Amino acid sequence: MTEPRERTGKRGPLAASPTEEGPPSRVLSLFTPSGRPTLGNLLGALLPSARLLPTADCVFGISDLHALTSEHDPARLRERSLELAGLAIAAGIDPARCVLFLQSNVPAHAELSYLLESTAHYGEMQRMIQFREKSERQSAVRLSLLTYPALMAADILLYQATDVPVGADQAQHVELTRDLAARFNRRYGPVFTLPRAVHPPMAARVMDLSDPGAKMSKSVDSPGTIFLLDPVDVVRRKIMRAVTDSGTSVAYDSEAKPGVSNLLAILSATTGTPVAELSPGSYGALKKETADAVIALLEPLQRHYATLSADPATLETVLRTGAERARERAASTVTAAKEAMGLLAA
Ligand code: ATP
Ligand code: MG
Repeated sequence: MTEPRERTGKRGPLAASPTEEGPPSRVLSLFTPSGRPTLGNLLGALLPSARLLPTADCVFGISDLHALTSEHDPARLRERSLELAGLAIAAGIDPARCVLFLQSNVPAHAELSYLLESTAHYGEMQRMIQFREKSERQSAVRLSLLTYPALMAADILLYQATDVPVGADQAQHVELTRDLAARFNRRYGPVFTLPRAVHPPMAARVMDLSDPGAKMSKSVDSPGTIFLLDPVDVVRRKIMRAVTDSGTSVAYDSEAKPGVSNLLAILSATTGTPVAELSPGSYGALKKETADAVIALLEPLQRHYATLSADPATLETVLRTGAERARERAASTVTAAKEAMGLLAA
């Protein structure tokens, strides 16, 4: 059995504590090809993940299996998987400095997912907010939508990840991952590291520009979603048409002024300027500054992506190499989990 990676020394079992001295954090992040990636995905997860590359041991997956949890088109899934890989690289997820792979190319994910399903309870899966929200929008709910958090837990635990950079919407799933890992360790022995979610200080939950009460999501068709590959004039138009709030003062108050606060959060995250230091004088000025900042962020990303997507064979090679490395890294954890649960080796 592999040793679980202790990170807290004398202070407790398995809990990750990246602020303490110790080995570099192990980071796992996943992006699902369930639609065209959005500004929310970029600010909430892609850029925060890319920023960890210099200091952490990073594993980034294109979670194509997660895209099967809702009605999907196979041809489009193939396209979107490659598109997302290209966009991740264009956003700074450099495959020379991390493991970048397609989840379905590493069978250990599905294997460990089943083992974790066998420690999870029906009630806790059913209580997940995302399951409740997404199942409400569908007539035939796939069983994999219910069990998806077990697969996500497997994704994280396979690599003994300590840190999981995600948007705020994924906090509950990471919390469940910790619960499942702790339960498994207590019942069968110490196999898994307990991970923690890491959220960006701003824009951890980018809201839909046309409905600031709803999260911007790539799988929801809305005029208030900014897609990373939207032409820049479309980006500007969407931001200039963003729903703002009553009154005229530009102030950050996500309860009373959700539309304005969303724009301020986007402007802050794209420019790296704290909200307190931003001072657009009017709603119009706020929209213009935000549009300029988002376009300045997206233009080089789109140029880089155009170069990468012109050469899909190279992108496929990158993913194949990443999958080989991921398979090697995942093997010891899944073997340890099977052995601990009493499954005999072949
Ligand atoms: P879907 O609607 O299919 O769930 P999604 O837009 O939520 O798509 P995911 O692939 O589920 O995207 O999530 C990828 C990463 O992007 C996760 O870390 C998630 O927390 C983050 N993320 C998604 N939407 C937002 C958002 N609006 N603001 C900040 N982060 C987000
Ligand atoms: Mg999501």
